[in-house]
Amino acid sequence: MALGSASTLFLPAFFTTSCNANGVRDNGNFASYDDIFNETYPFTLDPLPYAADALEPAIDAKTMEIHHGRHHQAYLNNLNNGIEEYEDLQGLTISELVSGLNDLPSGIQTLVQNHGGGHINHVLFWNTMIPGGSDATSSLADAIDRDFGSLDNLKEELISAAGGVFGSGWAWLAADSRGALSVVQTPNQDSPLTDGLTPLTGVDVWEHAYYLRYQNLRGDYVENWWDLIHWEKVSEIYEQVV
Ligand code: MN
Repeated sequence: MALGSASTLFLPAFFTTSCNANGVRDNGNFASYDDIFNETYPFTLDPLPYAADALEPAIDAKTMEIHHGRHHQAYLNNLNNGIEEYEDLQGLTISELVSGLNDLPSGIQTLVQNHGGGHINHVLFWNTMIPGGSDATSSLADAIDRDFGSLDNLKEELISAAGGVFGSGWAWLAADSRGALSVVQTPNQDSPLTDGLTPLTGVDVWEHAYYLRYQNLRGDYVENWWDLIHWEKVSEIYEQVV
């Protein structure tokens, strides 16, 4: 029998049910909660969980390649070079480093703030987008309704926060240790972790994230980012927090 598209009918249910609407499989390419938050030195740049052009047209391939391969790599190199000199810190996870920033030796605080934040922020960014988006679990969907009134209200608040970042920074959906959700902004590469919140997903509004395609139209970029949110992964992170 010739193999054709009909052969997909015989794939185990596991394969078909783990596809999103655009046929992209979340089959382990995406980082787990532990991969994202509990990584330790030496930190590594994992490949993107999808092809560089997979988020087109919302985010173009060239932007993805430069953003991941050069900007993220640079944060990572600077973080590793800094931590290399502090053996006592080498057993700490990335989230322990960033959340405990103010207790670190003063000589390494700024480096962890900028480059430790730069690393985990980007790992979270890559892994909470997926072509076509995905759906939240009921526990996260219920928490969004409870804390924002509706998903549309959250969208409005998050997009407004992203538009309101003056200069370079991020807008986040974050959770406190009891699971209460909030939208927060951070400047530069600061992370909500330093303020005691767990970032669930966020949008990078540094110009390097969108300028090739959008130039000054940050709002259009953020609107298009919203449709890429990998809510299934965001839910997985949320369920580790509560
Ligand atoms: Mn960036």
